[in-house]
Amino acid sequence: MSTRVWAVATLGVLLVLIGIVAITRVPWSGAPAPRSEQLAALAGLPADAVAKGKAFNAALRPGSYGSMVIGLVVALVLGLTPFGARIVEAVGRPLGGHWLAQAVLGGLVIVLIGEVVSLPFAAWRHTVLKRYGLSTQDWGAWLVDLLKAYGVGAVLGALVLAGFFTITRLFPQWWWAVGAGAAAALVLVLTFVFPVLVEPVFNKFTPMEDGALRDSLVQLAERDGVPVKDVLVADASRRTRAVNAYVSGYGATRRIVVYDTLLREAPEAEVRSVVAHELSHARSNDVLTGTLLGALGSAAAVVLVYLLGAWEPLLRRAGVDSIAEPRAVALLMAIAIVGGLVAGPVQAYVSRKVEARSDAHALELTGDPETFQAMMTRLAMVNLADPDPNRVEHGLFGSHPSTVERLAMARAWAK
Ligand SMILES: [Zn+2]
Repeated sequence: MSTRVWAVATLGVLLVLIGIVAITRVPWSGAPAPRSEQLAALAGLPADAVAKGKAFNAALRPGSYGSMVIGLVVALVLGLTPFGARIVEAVGRPLGGHWLAQAVLGGLVIVLIGEVVSLPFAAWRHTVLKRYGLSTQDWGAWLVDLLKAYGVGAVLGALVLAGFFTITRLFPQWWWAVGAGAAAALVLVLTFVFPVLVEPVFNKFTPMEDGALRDSLVQLAERDGVPVKDVLVADASRRTRAVNAYVSGYGATRRIVVYDTLLREAPEAEVRSVVAHELSHARSNDVLTGTLLGALGSAAAVVLVYLLGAWEPLLRRAGVDSIAEPRAVALLMAIAIVGGLVAGPVQAYVSRKVEARSDAHALELTGDPETFQAMMTRLAMVNLADPDPNRVEHGLFGSHPSTVERLAMARAWAK
């Protein structure tokens, strides 16, 4: 068999594995509660809060779409013309055109160009967040966060670029197979490492102080049969008024994190309701599901890139001889960005299904639909969510069921 046939076969196997994980681990069944119930829930929300949520999201919209479009256009211009390859060459020239300099510095410059063109949109977004009182950051703190994010991205990007192009040099025939394995391994490692190494760069985490709330949360976790090592409080108030909680990592790094803003804003019963939702993620190993899908998806993406590399017109457009050479890094970024835009709505759909399961579980665990609804209403109002968003946008980008869907679910459960 030729290398190409092996690649096609491998891609087939990976897609079957993705299918198996998706079918067995994602809760596909269950539709949102009836629209009539959603409208009844919407009517129960304060009209001014609904209007404010809609106005806030409308104010964010032009910036979000603008950033998406300009990012795509720049990626396509750099990736599908020889312009990107020329930039990579120019960046590597002072270092004698060494392949590693082209791969790492050239790659980072291409990424940086994408970041810089979308920077005005990020700043615009911050002005909207300030205007609506959601952000508590001044421009200095905002800039520090931005530079930290660039720093984390540059370290990770340099590792990925150096790793990828080392593999393509060492294994000219089989780089796609080694690269697919390495990509999958990287996703697994990052899931472990991210909560421990990266989250502390942006937030300070302290164990929740002893007391009735902590006891009741630990008790809730015990009753749910979920081993929770710790409940941590993140100092999110440095940045935002938004309230949230989440679960990250798995095994020894798994912990539940509660925003300090949530503790400040919500009564203890509502905090318990939020944590009950998060416990469901731990209980169903949703982080593991996401990691498995991410690892298999990344491996499949590497094989797909190899197969795309056989498409001569594409290489000619980018002015490169091979998709595996450092000069092709802009082409690779363009493929990654297009791939991300295509995969986004699929990820959002899966995420909504998983989140709906957590909501249902929170209702079962607490047996308290009134508190659940009070909590969801508070979440929407404090976070300035649009409780009943445009259906198309919600379908494409919504990571959670909408507020009215969540309220309607609780109302239906109560009946
Ligand atoms: Zn959740």
